[in-house]
Amino acid sequence: MKIAISYPPLESPKGVPLLSQNRQFQWFNAPTYIYPVIPATAATLLQREGHAVVWDDAVAEGKSFADWERSIIDSDVEIVAMESKTPVIKKHWRIIRHLKERKPSLVTVLMGDHPTALPHESMENCPADYLITGGDYDFSLLALCNHLADRSKPMPKGVFYRDGSRIADTGAFAQTGDLAQLPWIDRDLTKWQLYAYKNGNYKYTPGTYTMAGRDCWWRKDGGCTFCSWTVIYPQFQKRTPDDLLNEVQMLVEKYGIREIFDDTGTFPCGAFLQEFCEGMIARGLNRRVTIGCNMKPGILKPKDYALMGRANFRFILFGVESGVDETLLRLNKGNTVQDIRDAMKWAKEGGLEPHVTCMVGYPWESLADAKKTIALTKDLFQRGYIDTLQATICIPYAGTRLWKECLENDWLLTRDYDDFDMRKQVMKSECTTEHVRQFARELYWSFLSLPFIFNKLKKIRTLDDVTYLFRAAIQLIGHVLDFRKSQA
Ligand code: SF4
Repeated sequence: MKIAISYPPLESPKGVPLLSQNRQFQWFNAPTYIYPVIPATAATLLQREGHAVVWDDAVAEGKSFADWERSIIDSDVEIVAMESKTPVIKKHWRIIRHLKERKPSLVTVLMGDHPTALPHESMENCPADYLITGGDYDFSLLALCNHLADRSKPMPKGVFYRDGSRIADTGAFAQTGDLAQLPWIDRDLTKWQLYAYKNGNYKYTPGTYTMAGRDCWWRKDGGCTFCSWTVIYPQFQKRTPDDLLNEVQMLVEKYGIREIFDDTGTFPCGAFLQEFCEGMIARGLNRRVTIGCNMKPGILKPKDYALMGRANFRFILFGVESGVDETLLRLNKGNTVQDIRDAMKWAKEGGLEPHVTCMVGYPWESLADAKKTIALTKDLFQRGYIDTLQATICIPYAGTRLWKECLENDWLLTRDYDDFDMRKQVMKSECTTEHVRQFARELYWSFLSLPFIFNKLKKIRTLDDVTYLFRAAIQLIGHVLDFRKSQA
């Protein structure tokens, strides 16, 4: 079968959609293109099984909608599969309606966290032929395409489909795929260069993404209440350190990759981390490539950060979320504000460059609480413990525990999914959209203090440092623009 794995153009005055491989959707004025690791693995698996695959990221390729639509309608593509999230689900429904009107024989498949949470809603609101639930939609898409090519093969678990006018399904999804059996992503098939340069996580380009695990090992009581990825991956699975090291080595030697961001929800710790770091050092990869990852405060000790520094980890992303212990508890983050302070200090002392994400607008927080979060990030920044940050509005995605709390407590201000894009408040809160915008702008501008600029300029050694600073400045301006009133 011929399958297009597509990200259709989503034209919007709000900017470029940060949809692929993203746990929290945003429109960005300064374009960032994240490697869609799971769909890229799907493409790799499908091609390996003999299907013809079109890697069709029209967002990263900057195609117009008309050009993209023509490329699908006029081609011999038989199946189009699309990942979707809450803030763009209505757009994807419209696109599927449009495609089916123009080419009724085209088989359309929807997948992602929002379709997983509310599959009937999507099947009722658009004529999608199939909807895949669960996070392992690379394994599921392969099994579905195998079934469509040969109807004697079973449909995978967790698929919704049409049986005449009835919406039928194959039962609850199961994480049956084995990461140890997964091939490395075919970087040529999935046009790796599209994602190698325009990404604020990279200091050194070309850069790329890997994923050591799916998705986050923070599981206690279901993980963080606002996170949809623990819902679509109920069990954590990881590759071996050796397999990851071999892939890193291949990326360096074959593609000249200089920086890799591993996008596992939280990078594996303990023996995995130690073995991976020691392998980076023993193979001399620490002199050839820089590594970045997501990490949780409250887990690693100073010696772990020091080892990561020696292994050439650089960018380390911490989901700080709040500067209030009560909120961290309610979000089930599993760490305290003091853990956050310690982690940033130790990571910095280990030679890493911490990036933090924080959120405001929780229904239970007062304005004074939100100000504490802003004060914490400012303080970390001024102490030189963090290098970059991202401030957003907390969004309750469908299927998460926070979403359920919203329904139980009547916290939602709107059910219009277009509003769930972090540009405005969608939950009742003392902290209004205008407060959030003001805080975000304040945070971003606080980066521009004279001591900070002086400190950064003092550290410039190479051309990479200059270009990184330049790109960081563009990103910063982009983020300030993201929070303009006219962008809501
Ligand atoms: S730490 Fe929390 S927010 Fe981050 S990936 Fe894990 S569960 Fe999700």
